[in-house]
Amino acid sequence: MFHVKQTNMEYLKGCPVCETEKSSPFLEVKDHFLTGELFTLRKCEQCGFKYLNPRPSATEIGKYYESQAYISHNARKKDLFSYAYRLARNYMIGKKYKVLHQFAHPQTLLDIGCGTGEFLQYCRSKKMEVFGQEPSAAARLFAQTTHHLNVKESLDEYRDRKNYFDAITLWHVLEHIHELNPTLEKIKSMLKPGGLILIAVPNTDSWDARLFGSFWAAYDVPRHLYHFSPGSLKDLIEKHGFRLLATLPQSLDAFYISLLSEKYRTGKSSWLTSFFQGLQSNRIAKRTGCGHSSMIYLMTAENR
Ligand SMILES: [Zn+2]
Repeated sequence: MFHVKQTNMEYLKGCPVCETEKSSPFLEVKDHFLTGELFTLRKCEQCGFKYLNPRPSATEIGKYYESQAYISHNARKKDLFSYAYRLARNYMIGKKYKVLHQFAHPQTLLDIGCGTGEFLQYCRSKKMEVFGQEPSAAARLFAQTTHHLNVKESLDEYRDRKNYFDAITLWHVLEHIHELNPTLEKIKSMLKPGGLILIAVPNTDSWDARLFGSFWAAYDVPRHLYHFSPGSLKDLIEKHGFRLLATLPQSLDAFYISLLSEKYRTGKSSWLTSFFQGLQSNRIAKRTGCGHSSMIYLMTAENR
């Protein structure tokens, strides 16, 4: 699907959703989080999907994830921003569990990209049998030693578990995965017949994405490789034989993303401004149907 043109960067030959080779430049975006480097997003001329191209290869992307900051952000820092982040996260964990149980009562769960494992820990406390996968060694170690969770580095370590899981979740993870299409096929093979797949991703059609443009925090280059709209996500999953059951908003994300984006744009945090931007994003999502800042997609596999 891709070929290497220069060291460290790989060029996708075609659109990851529809495989069309023709694309046009969409936006130049800076890595505001870590390196300050500039990256190019391209838009597929056939289906409109937006993706990072060229991009750091899977072996090179690690340096764009600062593991120390990642862990401290999750568990240790005491500043107001980290406190608010943790408060929101703990509230979200309960909400996530409810969303997952809205249409079914899954017992076995695989959380892909489980991070430090707080969602899995919560699900285990509700008597679910839980498994995780996390490529970051620091986050994985934290989940294993602090929460005593079963977390593997790679999905391939679960290759023997065919038709095993009642539910597979990817909370803000799909946009990070280099092997996008092969991963969706692996998910399909590990899922039990009638099982549930949950994918949460930012929405590039949202009002806050349009408001902030290249400062929109959910572009998060080069860690986010793909920028889904409700339409492109549906195209992708239907290509793999999944059927969409429901689309739900992640309303709190509009506030978090606005806060970060405003900080990237102006150099400082503006809590009040960001609060109203978050409200406006959610309000316009409801009124126009463009979708919220982040969306949750619940689906099942057609042929399972
Ligand atoms: Zn396309």
